[in-house]
Amino acid sequence: MKKKNRMAVIYGPMDMKIIDSEIDDPKPGQVQIEIKAALTCGTDVKIYKRGYPFLTPPFPTGHEYAGIVTAVGGGVDPELIGKKVVTSNGAGCQYCFYCKRDKDNLCEGMEEDYDEFVQMGGGFAQYINVSAAIVKANLMVIPDEVPFEQAAMVEPVSVALHGVNKAELRVGDTLCIIGAGPMGLLKTQIAKMRGARVIMLEKDPGRLAKAMELGADVGLDPGKYDDIVSVVRGLCNDGRGPDAVIEAVGQPATWELAIALVRKGGIVVEYGGCAKGTTITVDTVRLHYDEITIKGSYSATAYETETAGTLLSRGLIRAEDYISGVYSLEQTREALEAHMNGEGVKFLIRP
Ligand SMILES: [Zn+2]
Ligand SMILES: [Zn+2]
Repeated sequence: MKKKNRMAVIYGPMDMKIIDSEIDDPKPGQVQIEIKAALTCGTDVKIYKRGYPFLTPPFPTGHEYAGIVTAVGGGVDPELIGKKVVTSNGAGCQYCFYCKRDKDNLCEGMEEDYDEFVQMGGGFAQYINVSAAIVKANLMVIPDEVPFEQAAMVEPVSVALHGVNKAELRVGDTLCIIGAGPMGLLKTQIAKMRGARVIMLEKDPGRLAKAMELGADVGLDPGKYDDIVSVVRGLCNDGRGPDAVIEAVGQPATWELAIALVRKGGIVVEYGGCAKGTTITVDTVRLHYDEITIKGSYSATAYETETAGTLLSRGLIRAEDYISGVYSLEQTREALEAHMNGEGVKFLIRP
């Protein structure tokens, strides 16, 4: 039986409406979730501002959510009905070239069937039918004591974890993170769990203070120094520089700064996605004689999604540290605009 479903839909750049629509019963392999908490994300803001290359308007929006299973499609365990769950917004197909090589974050499945392997929208709504591929790979039952909004952080935590894993930190290492947005903050917490010392570079005083509150050891505003590279290097490994650097801004200039900061033999993780067509310049001396490693970081694997669920279930990362305001579903636009205007870290929508 179809259910009434109020949802946020994008009609074009900066054009979002709340519409009353209907949702079908879940198809075989799918799970229907009544959404109890959804979170705004930088990606939602980007989509609201300029659309999304893989989606033609009108399309639903919101991809970080948790709720209760209200119905299941054929082949799915009916015991799931009534359970508190969270899913990620994507899944690997498990059989393509990359999935076979444990790189399900690079899965080719989305090129074959986008909607089956990626659900970039539908989270700012009362109900959602989660695709069979995502149910199979990335649906997690969450403990009763974990708030819905905390569970809803699985996707950003998994993606932050992927970036930190790429830095291959050892206990006692110094990690420099550039940028204290939601991702830089999550990476700070995760790096601390791995026994690293964290130096945060951030120009915004509010964000820098938040990073310190969440465990960063040193916080610096790079705008206040003529030579930030020497300042950061002077703080670690007797002037040699940090063991690893993660860029979490998404600007070519900070990508280059990350490469300049790291010590010989260190690892640079270029995490922040830059605008299409941009390029950076790399000093060949750094790559050859200094043997630095430069890596990209995109999305997360199913294993990291599972680990993110564990961290949130244990309360090692708490929603209250990240949520700056609460809105109703009808106020989704206000929530996105608050996020866009930098009025906080993330915003909670309660349908
Ligand atoms: Zn997100
Ligand atoms: Zn695949």
